[in-house]
Amino acid sequence: MTEPLIYDFTSPGRCGVTLPEPDVPLAEGLPSDLLRDADALDLPEVSQLDVVRHYLRLSQMNYAIDKGLYPLGSCTMKYNPRLNEDTARLPGFAGSHPLQDPNTVQGNLALMYELQDWLKEIGGFAGVSLQPAAGAHGEFTGILMMRAYHLDRGDTKRTKILIPNSAHGTNPASTTMSGLKVVELPSDARGNIDLEALRQACDDTVVGLMITNPNTLGLFEEHIEQVVKLVHDCGGLVYGDGANMNAMVGIARPGDLGFDVMHYNLHKTFSTPHGGGGPGSGPVGVSARLVDFLPDPVVDIVEEGRDDEPPLYGFVKPRKTIGRMKAFQGQFGMHVRAYTYMRVHGASGLRANSEMAVLNANYLLSKIRHAYHLPYDRVCKHEFVVEGHWADSTVHALDISKRLMDYNFHPPTNYFPLIVKEALMIEPTETESKETLDAFADALLQIADEAHRDPEVLKSAPHSAPISRLDEVSAARQLVLCCRPIPEWAES
Ligand SMILES: *Cc1c(COP(=O)(O)O)cnc(C)c1O
Repeated sequence: MTEPLIYDFTSPGRCGVTLPEPDVPLAEGLPSDLLRDADALDLPEVSQLDVVRHYLRLSQMNYAIDKGLYPLGSCTMKYNPRLNEDTARLPGFAGSHPLQDPNTVQGNLALMYELQDWLKEIGGFAGVSLQPAAGAHGEFTGILMMRAYHLDRGDTKRTKILIPNSAHGTNPASTTMSGLKVVELPSDARGNIDLEALRQACDDTVVGLMITNPNTLGLFEEHIEQVVKLVHDCGGLVYGDGANMNAMVGIARPGDLGFDVMHYNLHKTFSTPHGGGGPGSGPVGVSARLVDFLPDPVVDIVEEGRDDEPPLYGFVKPRKTIGRMKAFQGQFGMHVRAYTYMRVHGASGLRANSEMAVLNANYLLSKIRHAYHLPYDRVCKHEFVVEGHWADSTVHALDISKRLMDYNFHPPTNYFPLIVKEALMIEPTETESKETLDAFADALLQIADEAHRDPEVLKSAPHSAPISRLDEVSAARQLVLCCRPIPEWAES
């Protein structure tokens, strides 16, 4: 089926909007040498209805969490409650200007202060910055703080960050961006960081360790207390990649485990929109010894309220701050959404969500484990990794993912973590019903069956999508952002 293009409806002079007569004096037009010939621009001339149908059609060719299960492991694609959108659109929040005098936006600052407080409580940390705009940005912020901490003590020998080989690619990338060296550590047979390798790597040149817990195999690090101790004993700090916090909110606190700094992904754990749906937000929490290094500014109470008066909130500069990491106050709209989510669920509800996320993942795993290879056979946390390959089949993980689209499911994460060959990383989240999990398990079981009986049907999948297999490398490297299928300049 070929989808119609917006150009199929073009007709000279057709127009989709009616503008009112201007009620202000007209400005002078642009000088003619800055104007292009409108005919040469080749823009479609279409009605409003054509435009609406065009964009609706495009949106229907896409996939979203509002359309179906999105089991993209490590990404926590949970439902984004609509109440979050209502509060973010309250005129007082949506209409405030980032450069407004803090005295005129005390409600916004109170919300940020309370969000900092909740995140401190959830992570077991002494301080929080809401500035970073994503998890990776939080990593960068955290590593700069760790580096600043050592330099402040005159400890200039430290240049290395230790990272287990199960880590997300952003960990080594943030390290390199910070001007530090990555030392990769192996994992052991149970999927934990290899303690012996860690012991050997710990010396006085280590800035710190970056570790994800539960790790990207969906497994809780069984020796986490020893890991933290080894790093601290050599003078290093421990960075927690908090992307997997959805497994343990209200159950375990990284700060209590000895972590010195961790980012939260509000767009994963705390239900703010993700991917194409909105900007991310990656606040960082820190232990007492890093509080002075937090980005500038943090929100604090600058004057206690007398009697029943609320306190006065203001922006405060931490004493040894690494400086500003983000324009204005971070992604304020996401702070409102995450705060709403926390207030709706409360402490016990947040814990219950994490428990349900872990239960859902284990339920799904228990339904498919007889049909797929499990590289690490353990009880999982909120996600798990299976191999998308069998010795007696020519099918690869990618074929399974593409075939899932024919069953109307978004594929799981493919080929990550790198230490599992043909990895399929599956995270159902707590917001999916038992019926949905059952349907997804059935699809995975049928596909496993097809892989043995009729591998071709997988290798040529998807059969039902608007576009079949793409050359994904070219699609990413040579973006054609044009509503014409093949623009003239790209043909040669
Ligand atoms: C998502 C993720 C990150 C990066 O977070 P972004 O918000 O996408 O920048 C880092 N580590 C892990 C394990 C992740 O899943």
